[in-house]
Amino acid sequence: MKSFLPLNVRIDNRKILFVGGGKIALHKIKTVLQYTRNISIIAPEIQDELHEMGFNEIRKEYEKSDLEGFFLVYACTNNIEVNRRIKNDAAAYGIMVNVVDNRELSDFISPAVIKKDEMTIAVSSNGENVKKSVEWRNKIKAMLQHGDFFTKSSEPNKSGYVYIIGAGPGDPELLTIKAERVLREADVILYDDLVNSEIVDRFDAEKIYTGKRKDSHHFEQEAINEELVSQALQGKKVARLKGGDPFIFGRGGEEIEALRQHGIRYEIIPGITAAHGASAYTEIPLTMRKISSSVAFCTGHPVNNIQVPDADTLVYYMVASTVHEVLDAVAEKGRDENTMVAIVQNATRYNQKIITGTLGELRKSEKAVYSPALLILGENINQFIKDNWYSKKKKVLIAGEDSGLYVSEEYIKVLFSSKREECTDCHNHQQIEPLDLDFIDEIYFSSLAGIRNFSAFYKSIPKKITVKTANTEVGDEYKKLFLT
Ligand code: SAH
Repeated sequence: MKSFLPLNVRIDNRKILFVGGGKIALHKIKTVLQYTRNISIIAPEIQDELHEMGFNEIRKEYEKSDLEGFFLVYACTNNIEVNRRIKNDAAAYGIMVNVVDNRELSDFISPAVIKKDEMTIAVSSNGENVKKSVEWRNKIKAMLQHGDFFTKSSEPNKSGYVYIIGAGPGDPELLTIKAERVLREADVILYDDLVNSEIVDRFDAEKIYTGKRKDSHHFEQEAINEELVSQALQGKKVARLKGGDPFIFGRGGEEIEALRQHGIRYEIIPGITAAHGASAYTEIPLTMRKISSSVAFCTGHPVNNIQVPDADTLVYYMVASTVHEVLDAVAEKGRDENTMVAIVQNATRYNQKIITGTLGELRKSEKAVYSPALLILGENINQFIKDNWYSKKKKVLIAGEDSGLYVSEEYIKVLFSSKREECTDCHNHQQIEPLDLDFIDEIYFSSLAGIRNFSAFYKSIPKKITVKTANTEVGDEYKKLFLT
């Protein structure tokens, strides 16, 4: 059996001879031409297209001595006898021959080639199936062109990919395992206001804050879409991280639209939406046998179009500035004034706060509600709410490394990150609200670095907070910094 070894043969300063001046020769020459112009053609007649290419032409019948001085020969005549003679003559001179479409007579065969700059892809079937080689070559070429491979030779050879990811409502542990994996692999993370900075800080990718800061530099949705598209077109793996779930009041649909328009590939990783987070962390089941058999997710915006669906439990997002309008709309729909309402601020975070009352009471209440907050209304709001599992836990702020001392059955751990505090007004970063010590029950200084870091931002510690230190050294530092 014949076998052919793929090689790249050096051909500069070496002469190549084509015997034959017709279509077959033209076809072969077109490939060879990509690598050398040191080509001669011997044939009594040479077709115009070949002639115009301007190679060295010898217009005569082939004879053996013509082979002298050539490095490679292509036998391209349409006469098998002549081709066979060329093969035998060349063997006498020790010259390698390719007899077109005849692997039996050939010393070498030419693969189907894709050439771009210094790169070559050569497809070969060992001479057995030329058609298949050409087919494969064409397929590979189409594939590469589709992936923008050729147009970006200086870029890494991958096309961009976008993950639209839900980060959950706040508690960093509510991030899914899939989201965690993708964020670890991402080149760039574009994140919103509602994404907990503790999550963002954990990953090394380049980070772009796309939230709506209180200053004039906020991102409009249009600009976010453009940023997403532009990052992806640079060939990056882009993680688009949004609070809660991307498809619940998350504008994920609009971002996908933009990606589709640009032919950018993407996928969606769901997140725990604020309603589910609030429900679990306040012990309000959204449905309950015999009490609530339907639930609707609604929005308090825009204020002139507040909808009140006919569901047992209603959850309103975006209510911080529209609580009264929402409650009025619900009352107008005929809901009983005694229906229970819970407003949950900062659900699943250390500073989660619940305001409860009946529909009638809260319509009259002047209590301020701060964002992010959502409102839950229905008969399923029960007596446990003030005393729920989450509010029962102590909130401990850990300044320094987490020693694992505090068990999660009893404590909510808040990690003090100096990065977080420093960046409260960094320009390219989220405006993170400083820690609210009112919600903290205990502070644990686990190291000297931890306490010094903390003292750079806080000059005093409210009396109601219990302070613990890891050892006497840290204890002495505490006395020096906070008790004198
Ligand atoms: N896609 C998000 C919602 C974005 S709209 C999700 O699925 O949760 C923003 C609104 O979400 C806020 O105005 C608020 O109503 C709600 N929200 C988000 N996080 C919250 C939280 N931790 N506590 C209470 N409400 C929250």
